[in-house]
Amino acid sequence: MSQTLIQKYNVPGPRYTSYPTVPFWKNSQLDEKSWLETVHFNYTSFSTNEISLYIHLPFCESLCTFCGCHKRITKNHAVETPYINAVIEEWKIYLSKMDFTPVIRELHLGGGTPTFFSPSELERLITSIVTTANIHPTEFEFSFEAHPNNTTDEHLEVLFSLGFKRLSLGIQDYSPTVQQAIHRIQPFENVSKVHAKAKEIGYSSISHDLVFGLPKQTLADVKDTVAKTLLLMPDRISLYSYAHVPWVKGVGQRGYDENDLPQDYEKRELYETAKALLESAGYLEVGMDHFALPHDSLAIAMKNKTLHRNFMGYTTQNTSMMIGLGMSSISDSWFGFAQNEKTVEAYQERVMQGEIPVFRGHILSQEDLQIRRHILDLMCHFETEVKDDNFLDEVKLGLSEMLEDGLVTFEGNKVLITESGIPFVRNACMAFDRDLKGLEKREGMFSKTV
Ligand code: SF4
Repeated sequence: MSQTLIQKYNVPGPRYTSYPTVPFWKNSQLDEKSWLETVHFNYTSFSTNEISLYIHLPFCESLCTFCGCHKRITKNHAVETPYINAVIEEWKIYLSKMDFTPVIRELHLGGGTPTFFSPSELERLITSIVTTANIHPTEFEFSFEAHPNNTTDEHLEVLFSLGFKRLSLGIQDYSPTVQQAIHRIQPFENVSKVHAKAKEIGYSSISHDLVFGLPKQTLADVKDTVAKTLLLMPDRISLYSYAHVPWVKGVGQRGYDENDLPQDYEKRELYETAKALLESAGYLEVGMDHFALPHDSLAIAMKNKTLHRNFMGYTTQNTSMMIGLGMSSISDSWFGFAQNEKTVEAYQERVMQGEIPVFRGHILSQEDLQIRRHILDLMCHFETEVKDDNFLDEVKLGLSEMLEDGLVTFEGNKVLITESGIPFVRNACMAFDRDLKGLEKREGMFSKTV
């Protein structure tokens, strides 16, 4: 990939886990009542009661300085019980206010650090959910994010017995220098131990989450991290781009500055090197930043064009409704987005008052819904069909330079991303994004696209 292309297209832009993206939500439209109306509308429009459930477990014992997640750092485990009580309560509020009994197809524990919580608290949480909803009899997937430093055999056993068959291990990079820079010391032995135990218990899909573009990370570090990863051959690998967003309040990106970060071409080289090593070991690239062995459901979904993307990233479970429980969680009814309160205290207080603790959100217009579909198709399948000729003209105009550079092509009403355009798919999505039109400055709003 040429340096010129990277310099040209490495601009601030959304990651498109939603459309409209959060900075463009019209928050004033949304309160609990209007949010629940969109939930009901989803149920009647799609004639389905199937949902995905995301549960945010925000506590971590120490701060990793690269982290952009909503988390609370504490070593005080007395926080566990009141927080789990609040999540169970929030679930009960949903059940009492929704006019149908949901069928869960997907349940994911994210954070924060889900394994900060004791196995018994996690068991209490999951039991209260699965005993009050229906679980899809054949198509369901329970997964959790595991921190290699504090995931015990008991965590793995208890969660497996509750139906969890998939976990992702947060790794980032094995280099001691990088680990020190990001304040996350985590030797290979810790990962290897949790990985081996999970395999022994019977987890069918283990994912390793790696990050490229971290402070002080070199090409040799990436090669070494991939080599160590290949010793364990996880079913899936996420290879995320480090998002440098120091302006976002509370993310804790400190202890290094821009000079410590690999830039533009250098950063992309890290990804391309890892990609080549993974592909020669038998992995298939899925979407923008994921890899999977051919037997894994994510690789199969990519091949069958059934891949879906939601706030949790790429997924095989294509539900049109996601309920997010817990502090800062985002729910998505396809027709609306709703985000919960972003502090533990405000979240717990509102739930205990019997409210769904929504603090901001957006109701999608017809235009939003059409653009959302195009962006989702581009991100998952690298092509989309634009039936509206006027909009197609507008999009073609926005993509004219990418066409000249061989990154997109047009076939009739279809817009297709070429092989060399895949790293720039976010840039292509930006040509569909009407919210960006006329926006003077995207710096300080979004991380860079490449
Ligand atoms: S990377 Fe994970 S463990 Fe580290 S601070 Fe962020 S959420 Fe917590």
